[in-house]
Amino acid sequence: MSKSKDTSVASHPLPSYLNADHLGPWGIYLQQVDRVTPYLGSLARWVETLKRPKRILVVDVPIELDNGTIAHYEGYRVQHNLSRGPGKGGVRFHQDVTLSEVMALSAWMSIKNAAVNVPYGGAKGGIRVDPRTLSRAELERLTRRYTSEIGMMIGPSKDIPAPDVNTNGQIMAWMMDTYSMNTGATSTGVVTGKPVDLGGSLGRVEATGRGVFTVGIEAAKLSGLSIQGAKVAVQGFGNVGGTAGKLFADAGAHVVAVQDHTGTIHNAKGLDVNALLEHVAKHGGVGGFTGAEKMESDAFWGVDCDILIPAALEGQITKDNAGKIKAKLVIEGANGPTTPEADDILNDKGVLVLPDVIANAGGVTVSYFEWVQDFSSFFWTEDEINARLVRIMQEAFAGVWAVAQEHKVSLRTATFIVACKRILHAREMRGLYP
Ligand code: GLU
Repeated sequence: MSKSKDTSVASHPLPSYLNADHLGPWGIYLQQVDRVTPYLGSLARWVETLKRPKRILVVDVPIELDNGTIAHYEGYRVQHNLSRGPGKGGVRFHQDVTLSEVMALSAWMSIKNAAVNVPYGGAKGGIRVDPRTLSRAELERLTRRYTSEIGMMIGPSKDIPAPDVNTNGQIMAWMMDTYSMNTGATSTGVVTGKPVDLGGSLGRVEATGRGVFTVGIEAAKLSGLSIQGAKVAVQGFGNVGGTAGKLFADAGAHVVAVQDHTGTIHNAKGLDVNALLEHVAKHGGVGGFTGAEKMESDAFWGVDCDILIPAALEGQITKDNAGKIKAKLVIEGANGPTTPEADDILNDKGVLVLPDVIANAGGVTVSYFEWVQDFSSFFWTEDEINARLVRIMQEAFAGVWAVAQEHKVSLRTATFIVACKRILHAREMRGLYP
């Protein structure tokens, strides 16, 4: 005789390391999930899945420094969710990396990958290190030892790392080589963001910035903002901010202010973006750029602009500076740059926020193209790649926009609605094993 099933939403105490009392990045992510739960219908029964990472690995990464001492670094790889496919997400090298941060970043990857509908779950990795303090040889040893330590978790159909803050194509090449050496076969598909000569994809380096630009153009059209002559402020002028800034400038906008870890610069008439990119490539940051005035770092947030692109680290737009923001459009190139309180302040002011989980998804979208190209050993032209990227970003953004209109919610909540439904629907169809 079959018992009738209780399908109500059960409440579960959280494991200790998932405690949301502190407002670290993971706490912010949990708040975002809570905001979306009322819109999930019967799938809300599965929402607990999203509140606990599937798998967390913390590793000790010892290396011998050039001076002979042994240094130990804290490393992580977190697979947040694998319902829709293998884990996918970058590896960050930063002195402030914590487990809470990597957990949140892995969760945002689950949401992002589902939002643009690439067949991945979400994962992220990191090492708590300031890579600027290491020599190239030390950085290589660190990367290789970390890759070996997380080797049991990664693989082309298990979990595919990629670049993130302070990691790049060279680091991906070392990761690919280390994994290949350990497994005994060249395995290009184990990481993305590789150099083009090693199975990398054309257009990958610029992809995140191009995605930021693409959704920015779509949002500007829908909200009646003209790009021609629009004033743009960018925080972070690396891969993401630099490329997005250049594309906006090429489209007729003026990049009036840029901030990074080396300084804040301003030119109300618009900076020469090409010259600034050259300066950054040479000097490692915007500080010291002639052709702009220096600015106090706090003044950056109140700068007169139409479009603001935070493209550095998380937690930058807070309740303390959100009120000063003059932009009509905020495009989140970084992951998690806006706290929930700041999000509410911007919403109340009528500022349109294009959330990270859709706005910066261009990077992982071209990572997906790279992975597909590696599997088929057949490589596409840059035009094909950019055209496919733009199509995916436009379609995903249009879908999210429609959901925001339908439920009268922010674009962040709308993106979470679309993504969480996809993830939890996959979860439900796969069922629990055993
Ligand atoms: N690190 C990038 C992100 O945060 C890209 C991840 C990937 O390509 O897997 O989206």
